[in-house]
Amino acid sequence: MSPLQTSDRRPIVISGPSGVGKGTLCQKLINSYPDIFAFTVSHTTRGLRPGEVEGVSYYFVSPSSFQSLVSQSGFVEHAVFSGHNYGTSKQNISDLTARGLIPVLDIDVQGVQQIKSNPCIDARYVFIKPPSLGALEERLRGRGTEKEEAIQKRLAQANIELEYADIPGFFDMVIVNDDLEEAYKKFVEFASGP
Ligand code: ADP
Ligand code: 5GP
Repeated sequence: MSPLQTSDRRPIVISGPSGVGKGTLCQKLINSYPDIFAFTVSHTTRGLRPGEVEGVSYYFVSPSSFQSLVSQSGFVEHAVFSGHNYGTSKQNISDLTARGLIPVLDIDVQGVQQIKSNPCIDARYVFIKPPSLGALEERLRGRGTEKEEAIQKRLAQANIELEYADIPGFFDMVIVNDDLEEAYKKFVEFASGP
């Protein structure tokens, strides 16, 4: 992989509806440039999906452990998504930054809003859009990780999330993830800075 010139070292926040391909795009970026970018590992109260690894995919914690970190002001942001708590710990961001890595946060729009209104980090924001709601549903189902009820909740939430993509200036860039390679190229351009 050719070296990447990064002109902007601020954390990257990626958001967009569940199933749109955020994880796929981030994984490609981090696999290609492991010395530059690293995933923040969020805390969540949801259960492990097949293939997920504790401390790699998420820190899977109980609701009381999550609340305890909230009360210690341990999160940069946190939100309830589809009935479960999710949050990005301050510790995680500072560990990655101390290692010289650019943190990549995959978070929902509530989290984006919180960071923007209480900026304890200076970040850049990209939104990933599906080519259509039909394609999003197909991807969510194709991933095969959620039960029907969870799929329905995520699709309902997608309509709300998509409205944020149209707010002028809310995101620095909106990328339509139709063809994966094309979307990835745009994501790398964004990640490397202006
Ligand atoms: P998210 O992290 O946004 O919830 P994922 O990265 O898990 O989404 O992607 C959801 C599913 O869609 C996965 O099965 C993934 O392989 C697939 N996918 C991602 N990007 C594309 C694309 N451009 N075209 C078709 N399928 C895609
Ligand atoms: P999933 O359960 O599919 O892994 O994630 C569901 C949603 O939660 C996704 O939209 C993802 O971006 C979001 N999410 C994951 N981690 C965090 C986090 O730390 N904070 C917030 N606000 N959202 C998160």
